[in-house]
Amino acid sequence: MNCPGCGGPGAVPVPEAVGRKDLRRRLSKAPLLGRVALLHAVEGLVLVALTLGWAAMGADQGKPLYVVGALALTAVIAVVTCVVVRDDLRGRGAVRAGAARAESIWLPARYCVGCDAVFCPEGAPWQGPVTPERFTRLVWTQGGYGDRLPPEGAGGA
Ligand SMILES: [Zn+2]
Repeated sequence: MNCPGCGGPGAVPVPEAVGRKDLRRRLSKAPLLGRVALLHAVEGLVLVALTLGWAAMGADQGKPLYVVGALALTAVIAVVTCVVVRDDLRGRGAVRAGAARAESIWLPARYCVGCDAVFCPEGAPWQGPVTPERFTRLVWTQGGYGDRLPPEGAGGA
């Protein structure tokens, strides 16, 4: 199966190419939201612990304004953390729901090592080579979680 971009024979199936460390993220089938949710929860807890520490410090030093401010900040961080984590988990549900749709174009696609492009051996759903970033966009959109993509132009090298 020669690449339609460079004509080279170096194309491998995407599920195989994604095993390469440098391609894992660029060819990913879906965002890793479980890990993201955990990370956001831990970040929130660290910040809450920090602001509670400030409140305790204010109490020790007899500064009530300091205590009130720190507690207000703690409350805001706790609420924001809950909203963010809930959103992450909801996104994970969307990813699970759309996995089969996304796989229908992710599985048969091929990655060309020669020109760093992804193409469909069948010539469908698209023809010709596209960049891994464009490919990820197609897959995630197909899966119904395209809103989880990083903004266009960001991240890629
Ligand atoms: Zn190529």
